[in-house]
Amino acid sequence: MTKPRLKELKELYGKKHVKKTTHKKRVLRKFSVGSRRCDRCGNYGSHIRSFGLNMCRQCFREIAPKLGFRKYK
Ligand SMILES: [Zn+2]
Repeated sequence: MTKPRLKELKELYGKKHVKKTTHKKRVLRKFSVGSRRCDRCGNYGSHIRSFGLNMCRQCFREIAPKLGFRKYK
């Protein structure tokens, strides 16, 4: 069986539902914000690189006491 064309599909299902699916591939960045992801949850924003943590601030907040970080005030 041949693959139905988009035009045929539109006729079959009605124009509203058939849409040419386009998916943007994730670009692997070499530097800057887009290149650094959180190791724990995969978040891009608010990344902590110091001490080799490589995680976002939210994850750091959660596991900081386990790592040995202490709040002094
Ligand atoms: Zn995270």
